[in-house]
Amino acid sequence: MANNAFERALARLDKAAERVDIPPETLKRLHFPKAVLSVSIPVRRDDGSLEIFEGYRVHHSDLLGPGKGGLRYHPEVDLDEVKALAFWMTCKGAIMDLPYGGAKGGVAVDPKQLSMLELERLSRGFIRRIADFIGPEVDIPAPDVYTNERIMGWMMDEYSDVVRRRSPDVITGKPLALGGSLGRSGATGRGGYFCLQELAQEFDWDPEQTTIAIHGFGNAGQSIAHLLHEDGFKVVAVSDSGGGIYNDSGLDIPEVIKGKRAGNSVEQVYCKDSVCDLEDVEVISNDELLTLDVDVLIPAALDDVITEDNAEDIRARVILELANGPTTLEADKLLEEREVTVIPDILANAGGVTVSYYEWVQNRSGDYWTEDEVDQRLEKRMRKQFAAVMDLAKELDVSFREAAYCLALKRLGAAAEALGTQALFNGKD
Ligand code: NAD
Repeated sequence: MANNAFERALARLDKAAERVDIPPETLKRLHFPKAVLSVSIPVRRDDGSLEIFEGYRVHHSDLLGPGKGGLRYHPEVDLDEVKALAFWMTCKGAIMDLPYGGAKGGVAVDPKQLSMLELERLSRGFIRRIADFIGPEVDIPAPDVYTNERIMGWMMDEYSDVVRRRSPDVITGKPLALGGSLGRSGATGRGGYFCLQELAQEFDWDPEQTTIAIHGFGNAGQSIAHLLHEDGFKVVAVSDSGGGIYNDSGLDIPEVIKGKRAGNSVEQVYCKDSVCDLEDVEVISNDELLTLDVDVLIPAALDDVITEDNAEDIRARVILELANGPTTLEADKLLEEREVTVIPDILANAGGVTVSYYEWVQNRSGDYWTEDEVDQRLEKRMRKQFAAVMDLAKELDVSFREAAYCLALKRLGAAAEALGTQALFNGKD
């Protein structure tokens, strides 16, 4: 089994390729990232010392349009992971039928160890290093793990300084005051919520009897928790990097979110308060949360949390992958054998890139939409593409994950074919 994150990610594509009729060249193209940039970013710490951080930006494919994908700040960021994430963005854009290719970036850093000023210097320094590699028609970054609106605002401002032109369309997920879109901050969670609603309808579930556990309580985790809670679903457990909380009759999600946002010294960028500080709940570990007896488990933190070591212990009937790559290949097989339904990341969390696309369209046209308009467009597109994946899963008798890759491959294959295949160049087409 390949032990590099990018090769592991490609293995799923190769498997799906056996099911669909696409030009073989499509697969060949997707096995190689289009371009990879590796940079070092010198940052002056507040105590006067100099620290160097390593950062990456990868363009995986531009078959369907300019690169699109987030920027991650995490100590474990490395090039292979960024390549895998960029590849998933290619698939996501294709599944959602967006005019985008796939890209991703990140910096190996623990941002919680930086002051606000250091974080700003790092963010601006990173953009200066990659400025020639990104651009509104080339590659458009967005937030990801431990980056957020404020950081996107700094980055857009820095890029605009570099190119000497105000460029809101170079980055999405910006603050509203700097050209952000209404509805963007909750879009990933909202997209996942529509998927779950569709599935609940398919399975004829009663929301009030449906229990849900959410691993990771940041942007994506909080927004889906809020929507599910409002819709009457029972969110019984949530967790963050500090651990989790559980209440079998359902948590008071607005209170948990309030507690989480309570703030501290760097409250404007990160809320360091752990959900574990709340009262009237049972404190559980992250491992315990993953194996709770619930209807739906929502991984919404990091990759590789459901592995061959814990897949047999997962008791949820459905896994909705809001995080990117939370389930390993080995775990996938074990879950499939046990007939656990997995709504894959490349579909479940595609609400974020979809509203990023809407933000980009608004920036480029100068015409800004209401929140309702954004939400309605997202809902329409999400339900349509969820149905397309579900229909293909039924038609081919494969898992949602395999069907999602098949759909992506069909759309990417059509683009590759339009550019010409071996048959065309041999005069046989
Ligand atoms: P975030 O930084 O806002 O939140 C991450 C959350 O995960 C935090 O609550 C953090 O405490 C928690 N966490 C970190 N390490 C953990 C651990 N070991 N165990 C449990 N919890 C842990 O990030 P986000 O934007 O919500 O992204 C979460 C996931 O969703 C990532 O995989 C990201 O790639 C994916 N995603 C996000 C978006 C988006 O628009 N934000 C879009 C698509 C996919």
